[in-house]
Amino acid sequence: MPLRSLLNTAGAEAISLARRAVLLLDWQKNHRYCGRCGTPTSRRQEEFCMVCPACGLVVYPRISPAVMVLIRRDNELLLARSPRFKPGVYSALAGFVEAGETLEQCAIREIREEVGLEISNLRYFRSQSWPFPDSLMVAFFADYAGGSITPEPSEIEDARWFLPDALPPLPEPVSLARQLIDAACSRLDTGGLGLY
Ligand SMILES: [Zn+2]
Repeated sequence: MPLRSLLNTAGAEAISLARRAVLLLDWQKNHRYCGRCGTPTSRRQEEFCMVCPACGLVVYPRISPAVMVLIRRDNELLLARSPRFKPGVYSALAGFVEAGETLEQCAIREIREEVGLEISNLRYFRSQSWPFPDSLMVAFFADYAGGSITPEPSEIEDARWFLPDALPPLPEPVSLARQLIDAACSRLDTGGLGLY
């Protein structure tokens, strides 16, 4: 069964195990040879790592962090559409952490690049393993701090401010993006802006 269909049907524990299994199998398949000298590698029995018998290179499963940011301006939320989304669906902005970057630097850079806005007051929400193929998505709330929406055309086909009672179609509930948006809406509804 494809992992994506399991995400909508299985329980949390099974999903967690399946995510780990998919990530590990993919990693093992992609590291059968040493990336440094080309010798076939072998699995170390006591932990998940591939070892090169010739040069000693040790390779652990790779995790690629990515940052997701939901921006609030007063009681509005910024949602955007990638051309890759299902028709009509809007979501929070996201992008991969680049080499040498912190999560905070990545969030600020991605928002500048994708929609031309400045943000402040980043607050951690939660994270989610997303093994397609090896992401760890880390979600934040942020406040609008300046600029006007200027979508980067190759990544964003539309971005706008939405009120919580007039939202467009959103990603599926299993996704971290949807959990982030739902959490922001419920905090706006209850006036919990200080917490949010
Ligand atoms: Zn090697």
